[in-house]
Amino acid sequence: MSKRKSIYFFLAIIFIFGLIFFRINVYVESHKLQVAFLDVGQGDAILISEGGKQILIDGGPSGQKLLEKLGEYVPFWDRKIDIVIATHPDADHITGLVDVLKNYAVDEVIESGAESQSQVFKAMEKIIEDKKIEKQIARQGMNMKISTDTELKILGPSEMDTKNSKDTNSASIVARLSFGKNSFLFTGDLPMEVETRMLKNNLFSAINILKISHHGSRFATSGQFLGITNPQDAIISVGKGNRYGHPANEVLDRLRERKINILRTDDLGDVVYGCDNIKNECKTGTINY
Ligand SMILES: [Zn+2]
Repeated sequence: MSKRKSIYFFLAIIFIFGLIFFRINVYVESHKLQVAFLDVGQGDAILISEGGKQILIDGGPSGQKLLEKLGEYVPFWDRKIDIVIATHPDADHITGLVDVLKNYAVDEVIESGAESQSQVFKAMEKIIEDKKIEKQIARQGMNMKISTDTELKILGPSEMDTKNSKDTNSASIVARLSFGKNSFLFTGDLPMEVETRMLKNNLFSAINILKISHHGSRFATSGQFLGITNPQDAIISVGKGNRYGHPANEVLDRLRERKINILRTDDLGDVVYGCDNIKNECKTGTINY
């Protein structure tokens, strides 16, 4: 190669690296928010991304499926999930998390405080211990500042919900995400009994987008709850032809009566919201960086 050619070659390499660095920086520094309700079959998995930060709420029933999905939404060079939230220790919510904890660097795991004797729960706890991942128990009133514009507020469980719970669902972590005027409510598999108690304690307020509790079970999401939360959109994370008959017709009727848009993962696949500015409404569709 002549001297002149070598200089051009060298400049071209610098330019390409500069461009890659610039693109990565735009992504990492971005304050656009994306919330993806992943189609993981019968279970829940929700990925909240803001720039280089990711929060994963639940992991669905299959590790392989979840890792495939994360591969679509998290760039290959980003091997870190900042916070993993396990709403409660049922297999359709935590099985996928075991593989995520194995394959990604996770800064912090937040659990409900409810425990289970299942193998999958034990496997999750073992990885958290082995990898010395920080663990926190979610408590009503906790507030997590994700960035200047984004906040995640823990509405439940209370200490009483975890102690008195007859089943793991009652201790489900309930969280409200706000981004400017936009708000999302995540409910895990919260049963109606606890939902009603939380309503009495004025813990709910109007939101835009609601993740329907317990895959649309008729034992959750009362008319009164929908009246207070008053969402425009309701996401039902559910597997096609599941053996529980989810979502229940009663819940679908309650949503239709109130003209709430129903978005089901078994019909639509992943349901993704992109929020490009705190002043604008979040819209369905992925964010462009
Ligand atoms: Zn569930």
